[in-house]
Amino acid sequence: MPAHVTPHPEPGRRPPEPKLKRVKSAPGILARAKPAAKKKIEARGAGRTEGSIGDDALAATVKRSRKSKDVIPRLRIRMYRHGLGDCMLLRFRKEEGEGTYNVLIDCGLITVASEPQAKMQRVARDIAAACKDGDKARIDVVVMTHEHWDHVSGFHSAQAAPLFDKMDIGEVWYAWTEDPRNELGKRLRAERAEKVQALANAVAAFGATPGMEARASELGAMLGFFGIEAGAAAGAKIGRTREAFDYLMNRQNVRTRYLEPGKAPRTLPGVPGLRVYTFGPPQDEGMIKRSAPTKKGREVYELSAEQRLAANIGAAFERMAAGPAAHEGACEDCPFDPILRRQEGPGGQRYSRALGGLIDGVWNAPDQEWRKIEMDWTQAAETLALNLDSHTNNTCLVLAFEFTDTGEVMLFPADAQVGNWLSWQDLRWTVKTATGTQEVSAPDLIARTVFYKVGHHGSHNATLRTLGLEQMTSEDLVAFIPVCKEEAKKNRWMGMPFNPLVKRLGEKTFGRLLVADEPKPDGEQLGRLTPAALKRFDKSVTTPEPTADDPDGNLWFELGFE
Ligand SMILES: [Zn+2]
Ligand SMILES: [Zn+2]
Repeated sequence: MPAHVTPHPEPGRRPPEPKLKRVKSAPGILARAKPAAKKKIEARGAGRTEGSIGDDALAATVKRSRKSKDVIPRLRIRMYRHGLGDCMLLRFRKEEGEGTYNVLIDCGLITVASEPQAKMQRVARDIAAACKDGDKARIDVVVMTHEHWDHVSGFHSAQAAPLFDKMDIGEVWYAWTEDPRNELGKRLRAERAEKVQALANAVAAFGATPGMEARASELGAMLGFFGIEAGAAAGAKIGRTREAFDYLMNRQNVRTRYLEPGKAPRTLPGVPGLRVYTFGPPQDEGMIKRSAPTKKGREVYELSAEQRLAANIGAAFERMAAGPAAHEGACEDCPFDPILRRQEGPGGQRYSRALGGLIDGVWNAPDQEWRKIEMDWTQAAETLALNLDSHTNNTCLVLAFEFTDTGEVMLFPADAQVGNWLSWQDLRWTVKTATGTQEVSAPDLIARTVFYKVGHHGSHNATLRTLGLEQMTSEDLVAFIPVCKEEAKKNRWMGMPFNPLVKRLGEKTFGRLLVADEPKPDGEQLGRLTPAALKRFDKSVTTPEPTADDPDGNLWFELGFE
């Protein structure tokens, strides 16, 4: 354990004064400078956005009150509060006079949200203003964590892609699972596509079957991640999420990188004292497919069966959606002999004489009604949808940013679930130091985490306990949950965020838990902080000044690091 990390104090006791100083946090300065800057902006006329106000305020403050060169915060983490979905902007201070190195991690909103285009365009405009470099905005790296709509929708042409088109983008980072040269990745993608297609067929089939409309909409909500909605035609090509996910892969002058755990940590050009470690996704199929803590070794077996199921129910649902007439006479895929086939057509049911007796005596017998299983087989669709969702979450690209001098770590697990988290425990890197080399482990980095983007919108299986949150022992820990309870409910995700997790996060952060759909914590929530720590938190976390684009000033929280 590094010297600066002290064991976490018992809950209920006041934390000792943190050693990592953030007293002169620049967001604090920024906040103080705002009234003057605001006047300046007003004098210039409307049309400017909050991001540029902040930057002007900062510049004005530097000239007026401080001669220090290093007044831009070392890092500003902007956490968007646009709804249920992830969008995080990290601006790292570059070497003197070089501006900031901008990293955008995801940009998406869940399908059930109202006015998604307006919301995502507001976010994109704010990103452009915050990343302004000359007359153009520049994002140095976009991180696409995984193929889910609530993480990538902003990059779709129906949302904010036209605004991102106007920004310079240097690189896009994907997980190794997306690398076209990676064999396991290729197979996982093909499997995913097959399952998504099978489920799209199920949504269409339910939608077309009287009495099953409710299930169509429920399954549609579960599949919203892949851009599938109830009413989509059976066999329709699924592409909305993929289109958004691939947006930068296909764009000219954007360099694509595929990151894998175990490779040497990356550095960002021009940003001194920073390392970026890749934690996940694990390069182990069993781990990727592990979404709940079950006995090891069973997952692979379950999956091969599940893959067969996907193929079978995909075909079955396609047939069901198309209706009986479409398949009349075409029974090459029917498992029964012609004599045993019952076929429905425009004129009602048709069957052979031999089968007719059986149907009349058994199938249509009034006291045998309870034996009918009719549509029970369709339950497989919901199970498959849940598993598909979890497996996709486990393909998340998980990154940890480390300041090498202070040891502070900022952890971004996207929606990683159990298997992804468990795999981090074995990760080790050898890094260069001033005097030689040093081994760094993932558990050590987790212990030093001072900012935690809570996994999967605060759900129950996306923040491990013993091998996760309990390992985070820094007394400076601040956490953020990108959740909107109203949208979660609308999407029938009950328990998001998961209450026991929220409670423990509150304890571990001494109340410094930011929740996207709640105001910045104050008063009683922060009552266990020392006055100095309270003041520091208050200064380092800022919210936007209201603008025409964001009249309530609640588009984001921003955490500044000195
Ligand atoms: Zn996800
Ligand atoms: Zn998500």
